[in-house]
Amino acid sequence: MRLKDKICVITGGANGIGAACVRAFAREGAKVVVADIHAPHETVDALFVEADVSNKFSAERLVSTTLKRHGRIDVLVNNAGITHAADFLDCAEEDFDRVLRVNLKGMFLCGQAVAREMVKQKIRGSIINMSSVNSVLAIPNQVPYVVSKGGVNQLTKVMAMSLAPHGIRVNGIGPGTIGTDLAKKAVLGSDEARRKVMSRTPLGRLGEPDEVANVALFLASEESSYLTGQTIYPDGGRLALNYTV
Ligand code: NAD
Repeated sequence: MRLKDKICVITGGANGIGAACVRAFAREGAKVVVADIHAPHETVDALFVEADVSNKFSAERLVSTTLKRHGRIDVLVNNAGITHAADFLDCAEEDFDRVLRVNLKGMFLCGQAVAREMVKQKIRGSIINMSSVNSVLAIPNQVPYVVSKGGVNQLTKVMAMSLAPHGIRVNGIGPGTIGTDLAKKAVLGSDEARRKVMSRTPLGRLGEPDEVANVALFLASEESSYLTGQTIYPDGGRLALNYTV
């Protein structure tokens, strides 16, 4: 078992990619804590903590509740994220703020609260930030999302540099299009939209949440012990492609 008895907190673990991480980590022996604004869709062997990652007190309560139950935190998967479709000229300030608050500030708040505890307890933990191919590419009508994910990549690097002296590793995952509720809402709304995504996907299919969870598993485990400050892209080849398929 690759995560035997490791205490792993997964934000946004109630659905989609986060839920796949919960299943994969539990299968590998982890004791999982799901942090989400919604209760998990499926019955999972995990502690559920209702938490809004964009709220500092909620992030701190997530850590204290986890410590009360398990005494330590070995792994954090900063996965919770939202989208809002809007072109640059139309994007409202409140929508920009809302997406940035959850997708970027949420990872800062949870990352800081968890890392402080890891440092205090001298735990050489692993933190994983869920980025996207949209951290380095741009979809015109996903303004705040694209900006937030660009920020996540830099957050990953600066956290990795700050925490390296403590032996804590921080890495990112930048998925291509994965068939979850978020992707259905953001980029898979019609046959035409799906065709556009496929024209940019050399492997010719959507990714599965489990295929992202497998990367998270690798980054959480000792198999990636010399890896920090990196973002890995399970994207079906999209970032290597110039033009269309
Ligand atoms: P999803 O909508 O299926 O799941 C997201 C989960 O986050 C939900 O359970 C939701 O309740 C939770 N959540 C939302 N706001 C929250 C908050 N403030 N506090 C706590 N939990 C909150 O989405 P998904 O597709 O599984 O996406 C997960 C992550 O993967 C996101 O960061 C997303 O940007 C990233 N991602 C997804 C794709 C894709 O194609 N699906 C591609 C690249 C990156």
